[in-house]
Amino acid sequence: MRIHTVSPSASFSDPGREYRASEPGVPLRCCLRKSLPDEPVWLFRYSPSSGKGPYEEVGPIFTHVECPDDVLLDRLPVELLNNPRILRSYNAAGQIHDGEVVEPGSFDRVIEGLLNNPSIESLQVRSLSHGCFFFAITRS
Ligand SMILES: [Zn+2]
Repeated sequence: MRIHTVSPSASFSDPGREYRASEPGVPLRCCLRKSLPDEPVWLFRYSPSSGKGPYEEVGPIFTHVECPDDVLLDRLPVELLNNPRILRSYNAAGQIHDGEVVEPGSFDRVIEGLLNNPSIESLQVRSLSHGCFFFAITRS
């Protein structure tokens, strides 16, 4: 699998982005971990690329202002997968194929099963409570 993160530079497409000097504990889409105290972050509107046409969605995400971390893009980020998450799958046309709630400990198995389906082009991991986009997954 390949993990797709969001660069802090994506914040510049949202003129209404908000700067927060310290916002500890929010899920960062640049390095896929929770923010620490006194780490400056952006909060902004973002549209993940997997949904197209009527399936294109915009929602709030956080990134660092300057991301200090290198992310491993070939393995799941454990820090953001310690709670149940929504796993939404999309076809090549950008339409939702399916969605399900996945429990911690089951992500690898469920993701592998979905990526073995040739109708599925990409996956989105989202918050269960808020529905917010966390990161995308495609085949490597
Ligand atoms: Zn980061």
